[in-house]
Amino acid sequence: MLDVIVLGAGLAGLSAARDLMHGGLDVRVLEARDRVGGRVKQTRLDDGRIVQLGGELVGSSHTSYIGLVNELGLSLRDSYISEPGETVWDIDGTVIRGDQAAWMTEEDVADYERVTQMMVALAKQVQPENPWAHPDANVLDSLSFATWLDEVAARPAVSRMFELAKAGLAADGTARTSLLAELRKMSSVGKTALERYYDIDQWTRSTVAEGSATVAHRMAAELGDRIELSSAVTALHVEPHRVTVELRGGRTVAAANVVCAIPVAPLRRVAITGLSSERLESLHRIRNSLTAKVVAAYETSFWRSQGQSGSAYGDGLLGSTWVQGPGVLSALVPPAQLSFHLAGDQAARDVDARTALSRMYGEAAAHPTALFTEEWSIKPYSLGYMAHYAPGDLSAIGPLHAAHEPPFFVAGSDYWVSGYMEGAVRTGHSAAQAVLRR
Ligand SMILES: Cc1cc2nc3c(=O)[nH]c(=O)nc-3n(C[C@H](O)[C@H](O)[C@H](O)COP(=O)(O)OP(=O)(O)OC[C@H]3O[C@@H](n4cnc5c(N)ncnc54)[C@H](O)[C@@H]3O)c2cc1C
Repeated sequence: MLDVIVLGAGLAGLSAARDLMHGGLDVRVLEARDRVGGRVKQTRLDDGRIVQLGGELVGSSHTSYIGLVNELGLSLRDSYISEPGETVWDIDGTVIRGDQAAWMTEEDVADYERVTQMMVALAKQVQPENPWAHPDANVLDSLSFATWLDEVAARPAVSRMFELAKAGLAADGTARTSLLAELRKMSSVGKTALERYYDIDQWTRSTVAEGSATVAHRMAAELGDRIELSSAVTALHVEPHRVTVELRGGRTVAAANVVCAIPVAPLRRVAITGLSSERLESLHRIRNSLTAKVVAAYETSFWRSQGQSGSAYGDGLLGSTWVQGPGVLSALVPPAQLSFHLAGDQAARDVDARTALSRMYGEAAAHPTALFTEEWSIKPYSLGYMAHYAPGDLSAIGPLHAAHEPPFFVAGSDYWVSGYMEGAVRTGHSAAQAVLRR
């Protein structure tokens, strides 16, 4: 019998499996897809450029991920933040170009500062790993971010700015976001480092120069034939000293422990026995926000000659765009726009993406040499993007959500704050440590 089975070969499963292998355990990784990486995925254009269709950006607060990148001999380069030029704001049907706050008045900017400092003060009272410990956790969780903004009399432009920020990250809107969850996410950068609502240095200043999916590929190369691709798990039976995994097609594999690194939505389709009902309810209660990523590749970074940075925020199909690399723009479709996007066939989706890009960057943007629309939210082995907490969700999920129930251990970005590649690597490491301690 194996020591450990790891379910899922995303960054969480791979980093757990790698640590377990280095710890001397006999480990097997079962992956449903015919590739590793899960929500990180890259492809190579005809001219050799590598483009990222999933997770891409990291910041200085993503210490576990950066540590892994270094260990694997990979390097970080600056992300879109080094692009000069104006930002585009596509709001209320009007396109405005300018600096970060081109459409806000001085009073709006001052009020934004007031409101964010109130949030910083509140966030410093929240422990990211244990938001439930806050004395007013239930109250803060029952409030939506939008309700709180009303309560502190945020100016309409300030509320609008937060709405655009949520759409830009393809998170659900402020009315469907728990205040406690928002504060928890802010607090994850560390109390002393926390000075702003969302500091791009801390969240998105870098990307892996060799491509973020290369992180997964390097780990997979180390793990070698310990990884079985095209092995979808359908059931899991947990007993005190043995875990039996059933695969599509009927084959079973047994081990002394299991690290479950399957995202929360596909996991609901796996029949699980032998876990406490509280544990399972908490796992199943987590939800992801839904998005599609659009990537448009051009021969040149034509926006530069137009004085544009390639960064945009909008309330239409594309919540944000940013420069992924030379001649390549990334964009996210926020949840509120996703059903409309998915309702069209591929041709309609492409036309909509070209139209949205050309509104922001002119006619040249309508003619990429390659256009990708990656609909993560309907991919059966992802069914989502990042964990999202509506008012009441954190209280319902409770602290059990990331807890291990040996021999069942969990890993995955869905169990850290609100996701991110950092969450995958961090929880992968800690699940492996927990198994090794056992
Ligand atoms: C469009 C998009 C953009 C993003 N941008 C960023 C970003 O810029 N920065 C950032 O930090 N994060 C970003 N993220 C989030 C980040 O990519 C994820 O949080 C992280 O990669 C998740 O890793 P994971 O290992 O927890 O899960 P996953 O990567 O989802 O891995 C889970 C694995 O389990 C497998 N699996 C599922 N069901 C089964 C089954 N039944 N049996 C066996 N295997 C199964 C899946 O195929 C998958 O390989 C983005 C995500 C998306 C979708």
